[in-house]
Amino acid sequence: MSAEIIDGKELAKEMRAEIADEVQKLASQGVTPGLGVILVGEDPASNSYVKAKERACEKAGIYSDDNRLPTDTSEAKLLEIIDRMNEDPKIHGILVQLPLPDHIDEEKVLLRIKPEKDVDGFHPFNVGKMMLGQPAFLPCTPHGVIQMLIRSGVVTKGAHAVIVGRSNIVGKPLANMLLQKAEGRNATVTVCHSATKDMASITLQADILIAAAGKPEMITADMVKPGAVVIDVGVNRVEDSSKKKGYRLVGDVEFEPIAEKASKITPVPGGVGPMTITMLLYNTLESAKNHM
Ligand code: NDP
Repeated sequence: MSAEIIDGKELAKEMRAEIADEVQKLASQGVTPGLGVILVGEDPASNSYVKAKERACEKAGIYSDDNRLPTDTSEAKLLEIIDRMNEDPKIHGILVQLPLPDHIDEEKVLLRIKPEKDVDGFHPFNVGKMMLGQPAFLPCTPHGVIQMLIRSGVVTKGAHAVIVGRSNIVGKPLANMLLQKAEGRNATVTVCHSATKDMASITLQADILIAAAGKPEMITADMVKPGAVVIDVGVNRVEDSSKKKGYRLVGDVEFEPIAEKASKITPVPGGVGPMTITMLLYNTLESAKNHM
């Protein structure tokens, strides 16, 4: 069997075109969705994520208020900027790029963002609403995974979804979403983590296997049931002297042998990654509509 590739770039393009259309409609009613972006420090990966987010906003017609701050920015200064954005009617979503430098309390910062502008979906208010199945901003990466499943025609209702990883930004919210009695969800969910015993015996039961552990190619073909749908959230740099940058990106899944066994699979790069930013645009648009 050779798996169908779930093309995240293509799905993201399709969704971004839908978002851009809606942004235009809103603009004709006098509202331009706006995203406030805050990056503290010089971390190259964070810097490139933020650049990509700003570019995507521009392309979709979303206004972005970019704030690049030096590493030694005080917590008080950061909170002051968030307070300003909380009150600014042009800003519908606030994104603080993580991780923050050690002298800043991440939890305090995320709590300061008004829940109605929390387009990352990290505020406990939105996390709680998501868990209760109430309308809320959903965290972008897991929501992107759900959209990929829906848009590539994967039947989740009654499927056994196994997630490897239980972080607050990917594994736990994804487990919660897949559990909801709703379209593109309604699965039986198992979550594995670093203390899970005999993980292969569990992953082999998965109709949908989602890897989000951050461990290069840890899911091998012998851990996958023939015909399973495999979603690879992992993004890992591995040394590769044949590349100009000296590294290449791989997922948490051993792609080639698993593509022979699975029915559908996402590549890395070009899988879940492009959907994450798309869902940020989506949440910003939704927030602008809510503020009308
Ligand atoms: P975290 O490091 O926060 O969490 C990793 C999770 O995987 C933890 O729950 C950990 O278990 C579990 N884990 C680690 N090793 C193993 C193992 N050997 N067996 C079973 N479970 C294991 O990572 P994130 O959730 O933030 O990210 C996961 C991956 O997804 C990373 O590669 C990251 O780069 C990528 N990512 C990609 C995004 C995208 O847009 N494509 C967005 C966000 C993340 P425990 O809790 O016990 O420690």
